[in-house]
Amino acid sequence: MMVQPYKHEPFTDFAVEANKKAFEEGLKTVQAYLGQDYPLVIGGERIMTEDKIVSINPANQTEIIGRVAKANKDLAEKAMQAADAAFTWWSKTKPEMRANILFRAAAIVRRRKHEFSALLVKEAGKPWKEADADTAEAIDFMEYYARQMLKLKDGIPVESRPGETNRFFYIPLGVGVVISPWNFPFAIMAGTTVAALVTGNTVLLKPASATPVVAYKFVEVLEEAGLPAGVLNYIPGSGAEVGDYLVDHPRTRFISFTGSRDVGIRIYERAAKVHPGQIWLKRVIAEMGGKDTIVVDKEADLELAAQSIVASAFGFSGQKCSACSRVVALEEVYDQVLNRVVELTKQLKVGNPEEQSTFMGPVIDQSAYNKIMEYIEIGKQEGKLMTGGEGDDSKGFFIQPTVFADVDPKARIMQEEIFGPVVAFTKAKDFDHALEIANNTEYGLTGAVISNNRFNLEKAREEFHVGNLYFNRGCTGAIVGYHPFGGFNMSGTDSKAGGPDYLLLHMQAKTVSEMF
Ligand code: GLU
Repeated sequence: MMVQPYKHEPFTDFAVEANKKAFEEGLKTVQAYLGQDYPLVIGGERIMTEDKIVSINPANQTEIIGRVAKANKDLAEKAMQAADAAFTWWSKTKPEMRANILFRAAAIVRRRKHEFSALLVKEAGKPWKEADADTAEAIDFMEYYARQMLKLKDGIPVESRPGETNRFFYIPLGVGVVISPWNFPFAIMAGTTVAALVTGNTVLLKPASATPVVAYKFVEVLEEAGLPAGVLNYIPGSGAEVGDYLVDHPRTRFISFTGSRDVGIRIYERAAKVHPGQIWLKRVIAEMGGKDTIVVDKEADLELAAQSIVASAFGFSGQKCSACSRVVALEEVYDQVLNRVVELTKQLKVGNPEEQSTFMGPVIDQSAYNKIMEYIEIGKQEGKLMTGGEGDDSKGFFIQPTVFADVDPKARIMQEEIFGPVVAFTKAKDFDHALEIANNTEYGLTGAVISNNRFNLEKAREEFHVGNLYFNRGCTGAIVGYHPFGGFNMSGTDSKAGGPDYLLLHMQAKTVSEMF
């Protein structure tokens, strides 16, 4: 099967009037379908429940995006049985056929790109640019993993001795439970789902309760692209009920989770327990938190440093596990970088993400708002508030981008993931000291170094212990196929999403040796 080489989906240039108009049309399309009810999808059957998850617009709490049916244990069991039954034949389908479904789904999403992005504006509070990047990444995951599957389908050659033929190839695992996050409600939800599907597994998709509508729309796209009934089952529900039930289930073969450190640990622990009737050890693919640092060297482009810090700290209100939440600047340049970051931060437009000019919208919900505001209070004790610090949850969950200076590297706001628009600065006496501070958290997801000193960059390459390290740029915005994404330590299982070995995590290798 011949396919074009992979190339990432370009971001939309909204300075082009036609693109701006197209996005506005997308917003209108979404506006027209707000407030509808959405069913579960189990074995192809649409099931409506009395109990619903209500998805709201975080920029305007009174606006309902949709009411989504909510699975309970019984429905989760039904979905498990559907997925388990579908696995018997789906696992034997041709990789080409599965890859083609992804190619077609990518084409469908590309045609409806701005509608999907507009839905992300409404449901997740993403500004246009962030929403556009999320949709582009969803397309990328489909295009990339489809190609990866075509590369892997015949296995990897191994040696054979005379009188022997050896083959080494990969087979699917079984039923996977995909628990996806609200911060990349399209890209990560779609990426984790299609990686599991294209490798021949069947899936129980439990999307984040804050963003279930975009996940439903994606299930429809996959159906339109030819995904047969039962292969993907859509079962939003509570983590404590449906999540735990499926993580514990003896027929669950693997769990693909993206979310917080605490939930990730809980899943990892539960998945380790072997339940009656279970005949395998479950696999867990986990992408968890981050406490990501940008180091600014004394020989550095300080304007680039400040721009990179602001974009990485406040893009999508800092709600990325890759977000910059700590800056370690060498003492010679500390004041200059700090002052410029404060100046740039004060210029950011915070407000309704439906307006194209908005840089930063709301945070996702009330509990995120409360938690971030608590951390801001802690920050006021631990450092010097330079700008921001205010919030307003009267209409949506808005928090001003916040900068703290002179924070001890061991302070709570320097160690704990806030997942909001808060960045803390600390001073280092030299580059070794800066790396030591950068490495002093329990996480290890992303990091960046802004430096013109080649020796220091090479030192960071070796010693800065993160899964995604960037030089002379910000620490967010990994691109599928270019920057395989995943972290060390408490950031997860270092499962590199969008990388050449990601699909292997969803398969097991088989060796067949024949004598002749
Ligand atoms: N892949 C995203 C980035 O590079 C972050 C993903 C996440 O926050 O979960 O910014």
